[in-house]
Amino acid sequence: MSKKMLYPNLLTDRLLRSWVRCRRKAWLDLYGEKQERLWTAHRNLQIDHQQRCFVALMPRKPAKGLIACKKGEIGVLGIRLKGEGPHGCSLEAHPPLLQKIAGESQWGKHTYRPVMAKHGRKITKEIRLSLALFGYLLKPFQKTPTREGLIVSLSNQKLQLETLPLNSKLNSQLHESLEKLLIDLRRNTPPPITLNRRKCTLCCWRGACNKEAKSEGLLSEISGVGVHRYELLKQIGINNLSDLASTDTIDLGEKLNAYTPNSLELARDLISQAKAQRDGIEERINQSPALPELKHSSDLLLYDIESDPDEGQDFLHGFISLKRNTSNNCEVYSTKYQPILVTNEYDESLIWKKLKQLLDCDPNRKILHYGETEVISLCRLAKRQGLSDKELEKLRNRFIDLHVRVRTHWRLPLNSYGLKNVATWMGFSWRKKGVDGARALLWWRHWNASKQNGRGDINSLRWILEYNQDDNLAAWTVASWLLSQDSLLENKVTSEFSS
Ligand code: SF4
Repeated sequence: MSKKMLYPNLLTDRLLRSWVRCRRKAWLDLYGEKQERLWTAHRNLQIDHQQRCFVALMPRKPAKGLIACKKGEIGVLGIRLKGEGPHGCSLEAHPPLLQKIAGESQWGKHTYRPVMAKHGRKITKEIRLSLALFGYLLKPFQKTPTREGLIVSLSNQKLQLETLPLNSKLNSQLHESLEKLLIDLRRNTPPPITLNRRKCTLCCWRGACNKEAKSEGLLSEISGVGVHRYELLKQIGINNLSDLASTDTIDLGEKLNAYTPNSLELARDLISQAKAQRDGIEERINQSPALPELKHSSDLLLYDIESDPDEGQDFLHGFISLKRNTSNNCEVYSTKYQPILVTNEYDESLIWKKLKQLLDCDPNRKILHYGETEVISLCRLAKRQGLSDKELEKLRNRFIDLHVRVRTHWRLPLNSYGLKNVATWMGFSWRKKGVDGARALLWWRHWNASKQNGRGDINSLRWILEYNQDDNLAAWTVASWLLSQDSLLENKVTSEFSS
C-alpha cells in the first residue's frame, strides 16, 4: 500500500458506516486503488431490502428535495445534509428517507425524522450512528431538534417498526466516533486488517486484504484463531504464523494455562494448524474411517439449501440423487438434480409433502450435506408439520455433515474449512466464479421481481439452480476425497498386517 499525505476535510455518512464496520475499510474507500475493489452482492442486497421496506412503509411514492419538505410531503428522498464536523472538517450525509411526523419546524406544523432499514434482529452500531448523524444534521436543516429516528425491517413479509431516541448519549458517541474516524483517515497508511476476519467475506476490499494477510502471515489467517486467541497469542509474544508454527507445544500450553486451564490440547492444535498452513501439507488426525456409513451405500442424496435471512425463509431445497460404485469411490454412475423451489405462494405443508416424497423414495439413503444448516432447517420444518419424535430421530440419523467429518479427521492447509475453500483445495471449481449465497439470494430477488412484472427472468433462476447444483457437487467432491483417503488408509493397514 503506497504512503500518502492525507488531510481529509469532508466526513460523510458513507465513510462513517464503513469505519464502523472496519476502520481499515473507511481508509481504503477514500484512498484505496479503485481497481482492487471487488463487487459484492451484500451492498445490492442491502439496497434491495431497503427499497422493499420503504415501499411497505410509505402509502405512496416519496417526493424529492427541499421543496417536498416545505410542502409537507409524507416521505422525502434526495436530501443532502451539510454541517460542521470535528477540527474544521465538513460533514455531509444523505438520509435514505425522511418521514413526516407531527411537530414544529421552519416549515410549519410538521417535522421530519430519518428512516433506515435494518437486516436481522439487532439494531447495529452502524444504524445507530448513521441515524444520529442524520438527526444531528437535520436540526439546522429544519430548525428544530430531531428527537428520534425510525428503523424498519421486514420479517415474513411483515413490516416491523422501531423508534430510536436520538438523545445526548448517542450524540456524544457520534462525535467521539467522528473524531476517531478523522484520526484514522489522517494516517499515512491504512489501519491494520481487522481481527474479526468474518467481516472480510462481505467486504469489497477482501481481495487486497486477504493477499496482504497471507503474505504477512498474520495470526488472524490461521484457522481457529479468532479475536480472543489472537490477543492471547500476542500477549504471549507470538506475532505471526511462522512464530506460532515454530513454538514448542509444552511451552505454549503452559503459557496459555495462565489464561485458560488445560490448554495443552489447544496449544497442540494451534501449532499443528499453523504448521499445516506454513508447509501446505494436510495431516490425518483420526485413524478411524471418516465415512464408514458410506462404505456399502451405493445410493446417496446430496442436499443444499439456499436461504433468505431477511425473510427467515429457505427458498430452495436442492438435492442430487447419486448412484455410485461402492468398490471404486470415485466412479459415479448417475446424478439427478432435484430442486424444490419455495415460491411466493408459500405453503409449508405443500413443500413438506414434496420433500417427504423425495426423502421417502428410499428411507435408508444417507443424506450428505456440508454444515449444520440443512439438518436444523429440515428437522424444524418436519417438526412443524407434525413428524413424531421417533420419526424425527430416524430422519436426523440419515444426515451426514461432511464439515464435521473433515474437521474431526483432517487438518488441512487452509485458513478456513468452509465448503468453498475445502472443495476448491480438493480440485472442484464452480461453473460461475466468485458466486456465493448472497449472490444467489440477489438472483432470487431479481427472479421474483421480474415475475411480478409478468416476465420471469429465466437466467436468474437458471443461475440459482446451477449454483445450488454446484454446491451439492462440491460437497460430493469432499465426500469422495474423504472416501478415497479412507481406502488408502485401509489398504495401508491391510498391507502392513499381511507383511
Ligand atoms: S477486507 Fe476485512 S480488513 Fe479489509 S477493509 Fe474489508 S473488513 Fe477491513
